[in-house]
Amino acid sequence: MARILIVEDEARIASFVAKGLRSEGHVATIAADGPTGLDEVLSGAHDLVVLDIGLPGIDGFDVLEQLRAQGSRIPVIVLTARDSVSDTVLALEGGADDYMPKPFRFAELLARIRLRLRQHGAGEGGASVREVLEAGGVRLDLRTRRATTGGRDVDLSAREFTLAETFMLNAGNVLSREQLLDHVWGLDFDPGSNVVDVYVGYLRKKFGAQTIATVRGMGYRFNA
Ligand code: CA
Repeated sequence: MARILIVEDEARIASFVAKGLRSEGHVATIAADGPTGLDEVLSGAHDLVVLDIGLPGIDGFDVLEQLRAQGSRIPVIVLTARDSVSDTVLALEGGADDYMPKPFRFAELLARIRLRLRQHGAGEGGASVREVLEAGGVRLDLRTRRATTGGRDVDLSAREFTLAETFMLNAGNVLSREQLLDHVWGLDFDPGSNVVDVYVGYLRKKFGAQTIATVRGMGYRFNA
């Protein structure tokens, strides 16, 4: 059981998602505009947010930006228009954990919700998930979403955290750009996209350049 907030102004979609989640045993709450959604998330009463982009009051991008700015690490799945690649990219760069193009089947959304809850350690199987990862002088606490290196805190965005987590679960092994895109971004990014390289650069800056090695023609390796 998880407490899931649906921020969606289209009543038909909101109630379709809420009904489905309740039938799966979750607690579902609906917020029909941006400001209400933001207040609800910041109340701390929810485990995951399904967030629409086009909302009255303040839009989904602003809700996301404000909640991340206020330190909330809650998993967020953004609902995007199927043909809007730029919305998707903006949402992910803004700290969303995943996205779901509309229209979608409930089963598809449910699969993503389960995955994000599991990664966040709040859903089913949460207890069996490792809670702390350590490699290359970096320590990631998966429950509190805290990262430290050499005893000092490192501030990571949600995306950076997931990338670090993926690397550290595979420390010492080479991961290709495609594997990283698939695991961390979980979508059909343009294969020419350099988003992985950009984010590896961010992590190197935060953890030290030696933490992640480039393996020419293959990908990257997080040093164990
Ligand atoms: Ca909408």
